[in-house]
Amino acid sequence: MVFQHPSARKHKLALKKYWHPTLVFGSLLVMLIWYAANAKVVSEQKVAEDDAISDLVNYSLLFKEDVLRRSLDLDRVLHFVRRSYERSGYHADWRALLAEEFTANAGTVQFAVIDRDGIMVTSTALPVPAGKIDLSDREHYKYHRDAISDTVHVSKPVLGRASNRWSIQYTRKFTDRAGHFAGVIVASLDPELLLASYRRLASQPRIGFALLGEDLTIKAGAGLFASQVGSQWNDGNDKRVLQTKGRDVDVSDRDFGGWRSLVAVRGVPGLPMSVAMTLRLADNTASLVWNEYYLGASVLSLAIYLAVFGSHRRQRRHVTHMTRLAHSDTLTKLPNRLSFQQTIKALINENSCGGRFALHLIDLDHFKAVNDTHGHPVGDELLRKVAERLKASVRVGDIVFRLGGDEFALLQIGITSIEDAEVVAQRICQVLANPFDLSGIQVFVGASIGIAILDDELCSAPSLLKAADIALYRAKDMGRGTHCPYSKDISDELQARRELEREIRSATAKRQIEVHYQPKVDLTDGNRIVGYEALVRWRHPERGLVPPIDFIQVAEESGSIVAIGAWVLEQACADFVHRPDDQTVAVNCSAIQLSHGNFLETVTQVLSRTSLPARRLEIEITETALMSQDASVLGQLEGLRQLGVRIAMDDFGTGYSSLGYLERYPIDCIKIDRSFVSKLGEEPRAAAITRIIISLAAELKICVVAEGIESRSQADLLAAMGCRIGQGYLFGRPALPCELWPKEQHRRSA
Ligand code: C2E
Ligand code: MG
Ligand code: MG
Repeated sequence: MVFQHPSARKHKLALKKYWHPTLVFGSLLVMLIWYAANAKVVSEQKVAEDDAISDLVNYSLLFKEDVLRRSLDLDRVLHFVRRSYERSGYHADWRALLAEEFTANAGTVQFAVIDRDGIMVTSTALPVPAGKIDLSDREHYKYHRDAISDTVHVSKPVLGRASNRWSIQYTRKFTDRAGHFAGVIVASLDPELLLASYRRLASQPRIGFALLGEDLTIKAGAGLFASQVGSQWNDGNDKRVLQTKGRDVDVSDRDFGGWRSLVAVRGVPGLPMSVAMTLRLADNTASLVWNEYYLGASVLSLAIYLAVFGSHRRQRRHVTHMTRLAHSDTLTKLPNRLSFQQTIKALINENSCGGRFALHLIDLDHFKAVNDTHGHPVGDELLRKVAERLKASVRVGDIVFRLGGDEFALLQIGITSIEDAEVVAQRICQVLANPFDLSGIQVFVGASIGIAILDDELCSAPSLLKAADIALYRAKDMGRGTHCPYSKDISDELQARRELEREIRSATAKRQIEVHYQPKVDLTDGNRIVGYEALVRWRHPERGLVPPIDFIQVAEESGSIVAIGAWVLEQACADFVHRPDDQTVAVNCSAIQLSHGNFLETVTQVLSRTSLPARRLEIEITETALMSQDASVLGQLEGLRQLGVRIAMDDFGTGYSSLGYLERYPIDCIKIDRSFVSKLGEEPRAAAITRIIISLAAELKICVVAEGIESRSQADLLAAMGCRIGQGYLFGRPALPCELWPKEQHRRSA
């Protein structure tokens, strides 16, 4: 789990998230496809437009020719009727003349004659007008009355007063013998007739035909113009005149009420009219959407984006998975050390604006022992269960990490005081102190916790970690299973300890380590000295003679004990090779030396170097060395045994399960701890335990030594109990060889 930063970094991350080469490549491909599709569409549109223009030009030509032919036919009839009237000496019977077959036909609404005053003379629709029908207001009448030239006039569509039908009137004037205006011959044409041949074509919803008068009135219309008869020709918007290659036609591209249309307008030669034809192009938007190329491009784009996003998503999922793996611990599924480092940094950055959090470093106690004793699978199960308990012990928002091994960390967010952190640490200590059931094996571990809280002093990740580590060190020092918050005092103490560790490390080289010897006597043989125990001392230049109790533990924890122990062993063997052959020397060996692995080798080499017979060397070990039940410890002890070195169990009775060790390990001697011996004669229980230990040793046929004998009565009591060997101030304090054997001093220094 890693914290996100609410800053520009977020945008950067988002950009990074969506920016991807595949995506860019996909987008380029899509752009290319759309460019190609659009180019294809534009070129096809151009071809279609050219075809449409060609059709339009041709149809409009046909239409014009048709109108012209019909108009000329009608005009010819007008001419003929007028000629017939003139031939008759200007006294023709108009009614009879119009009744002739050659005048009216199916397309002619009526033929009529109007006199010079505009009064209808006759009409094929109404041969004898019922009354005086005054047509002097008619446009054609006025036109001819006032016109000087003799031209045909084509009227706007009108509703005939005699025929009661819509018609276009072709009119010519006639004169009297003197050449004066005498009236008008009217041939009314059904406008539909002009368009009859195109009606089928115009039934298509996108096509329109119109006959326009000189004044641009729509005289007849079909298709798109059918409903506009009588209205004014609308030129449309955004007119764009198109190339017509010198033809006698005006072709344009216009917007007719939101529709893009191609329009061709042609004049009808010799007549005051023109024809118009329009072809409505498909709606632009619709064509854009439904055009097969755009459709193809859309499908392809979709497929590309699906593929790209699919691959991108798979890749992102993979990256997320890898990131999660990199940030989480595979065993416990907790966030790992990397995640911890990132999170703590992010938290510190966030907390620079206020708020606090606590860092708990949690270290399991005795985890190594569980691992060594029950094997790694059980150790792994323990770690998983510890992780579960930790997660269950903290609030939502607090984060538990596994830093590695048996080391865990908790980031407790939003605390207000050290007490908040201590309550949680205490709870965790309690929870982890409860036994763990690991596949039927019950295990006790517990944990030590060091706490550090973000404040003005501890305001960086390294300083917080160091502080929590110091506090953890202290918690372990306090006896484990507990927690300790960081403070300056602890830090100072640790500083002093580090200094001590450093001094101890160089003490051997500086020849500050001394070995003192304390005699062991035969209680049953007049306190005859049977051997000595080698006891180490540190002659410090400022602190004087430092007893082992003040530095052995530190030397063990820092590992210096290995070198010190080897030096003591070498010294003791060297000192005793010249002592009487029946005297043994006992050398203390710490658990660290044994678990270090090459103690047996060290002993072998020292014995060989000093030539001390192995039977005269005794190694004293404590129960701690045996607690780990390490196979290598057992192997080394058996190896020592084979060399002839004796093994004594020191401080017997103070540990946990001493009896088991006696059975499992090759022990030659038991040393009854001073804590029992000192109470002999005062505490009956101590005497009872001492007696049991002595009889146990007798049963096991191993030797027993009583430590810390300070009084004669203790010595007597022990002798009476059957303890043969004794050691204590009563017989002699630990002392330097020069004090013990002054005469041999020259030999040692030689
Ligand atoms: P230990 O091995 O049990 O040694 C006996 C301790 O009891 C010695 O203390 C000795 O001086 C003390 N002692 C003996 N008789 C009496 C007595 O009558 N009265 C009292 N009050 N004390 C008595 P010392 O020398 O301070 O050593 C303490 C412990 O330090 C030793 O206990 C041993 O565990 C450890 N130690 C000493 N030298 C070495 C060493 O070279 N290597 C290791 N690993 N541990 C050592
Ligand atoms: Mg000892
Ligand atoms: Mg002892």
